[in-house]
Amino acid sequence: MPLPDARRAFVLAFFLLMLGGCQGAVYALPEVTPEEIAEANAEIDAAPMRTVVSRSTNEAIELLNSVGSRLKAVAGPVCAQAKSETCSFNFNYKTSPEENAWASGERDITVTTTLMRYLMNEDEVAAAVAHEMGHHIAGHIGKSKSTTVGGGLFGGILLGAVAVLGGGDQATVQEWTENGQMIGAKIGRLSFSKEHEREADYLGAYLMARAGFNLERGGAIWLRLAKQPEATRETDLFDPHPASADRMAAWKLTIQEIRSSPDLIPHWGS
Ligand SMILES: [Zn+2]
Repeated sequence: MPLPDARRAFVLAFFLLMLGGCQGAVYALPEVTPEEIAEANAEIDAAPMRTVVSRSTNEAIELLNSVGSRLKAVAGPVCAQAKSETCSFNFNYKTSPEENAWASGERDITVTTTLMRYLMNEDEVAAAVAHEMGHHIAGHIGKSKSTTVGGGLFGGILLGAVAVLGGGDQATVQEWTENGQMIGAKIGRLSFSKEHEREADYLGAYLMARAGFNLERGGAIWLRLAKQPEATRETDLFDPHPASADRMAAWKLTIQEIRSSPDLIPHWGS
């Protein structure tokens, strides 16, 4: 018995509400207004199409490592504030057609050859690397695993119970339980990760400032991402990344905040 569409929509909405109530950043993230997002969108529209940088493999690896070491050298107080267990990072450069960077394991940070081609200077490279360091420092990797598991459990129990109450036979109950697990895990993972992306951007900006990178120049990375060809841009509900305009606007507010934070320590939420 398939889930009727209306009921599925209701269940999705319910999950979002539940997860919305129990998630949340631990940092006091800047709040952008619709006007600031509109302004960022106008800036994106007016920006020229992006170009590629040509660097040899060695030059790219050297750039990545030098940016990484500068950021690593100043991360101590930010790690200490977050009570992050490790404050050590490995930087990897991976040949891949995928335009991406990610944080994995306990300390790994990987940037692909394709993403590197679109990062114009050391400040833009620093914005990408510092963002991934932010995921490690804030402990996002473990958190997103547990939200996926939690969402799946919760979804399975909820839809299983709906099927039992509706007088479903054993096969129906099982099917609904499995549906609930899938939907719950997906929503758990993705709704949580948008908040994680915002936190990683925020922490990344502080790390960059501590290491003496130029935040205005580095912030052009959001333009590079926004100027991807239409076909590869993800914009649906489940896109884990906030829209570029949203990130650009938040980045500007973070720069202002950093200018009035002489200790260069991120602001903790209440
Ligand atoms: Zn991220």
